[in-house]
Amino acid sequence: MQEINAMIQRLQDGNAEFVASLSNGETLAERAPPAELVQEQKPFAIILGCSDARVPAEIVFNQAIGDLFVIRVAGNIVARSQIGSVEFAASAFGTRLVVVLGHTKCGAIGATLSELQQPTENQSPNLRSIVDRVRPSVAELLETDLRHDHDALAAAAVRANVRRSVDQLRHGSDILEDMVQSDGMKIVGAEYSVETGRVSFLEG
Ligand SMILES: [Zn+2]
Repeated sequence: MQEINAMIQRLQDGNAEFVASLSNGETLAERAPPAELVQEQKPFAIILGCSDARVPAEIVFNQAIGDLFVIRVAGNIVARSQIGSVEFAASAFGTRLVVVLGHTKCGAIGATLSELQQPTENQSPNLRSIVDRVRPSVAELLETDLRHDHDALAAAAVRANVRRSVDQLRHGSDILEDMVQSDGMKIVGAEYSVETGRVSFLEG
């Protein structure tokens, strides 16, 4: 567990370097990957992030080629292929830290909110499959007073969706559940701010 905390710290340090580079105008030094990475990858973290063009995991965590195993899908949702990808990386490379990285102003969350508040017909079934996976965490919030405040609702929905994805990874497969229970795997949620470049790790 000590080791996992050091890995989370490494991501936090990388993000701090990235945030600093935004304000001091410096370009981050490109970290050259060790030669052996051409033959073999040894990622220390698996990141399930959104496809949003503003949230490239390697850049916002200031990590080098070979450091991160990144899965990107609109809305950082968890479907079977995402669970399979995490299982693959964890089994093949021994990676034990998994971070679900949501972000502010997420279009997939916005689309789901719009869809719930004003359903459209003829939505592509493929797009619908993404909205359907975000829907449960957002629908609960629409039952609360947050429904009167669009921005607060959207912000809470991003975090609820991250927590849901974390939960689905933790309990979505026997393999991952075993790794969490007895093999040192940690699955955590985090939120990237497109406004500040800062990543906040979510508690619990
Ligand atoms: Zn997004």
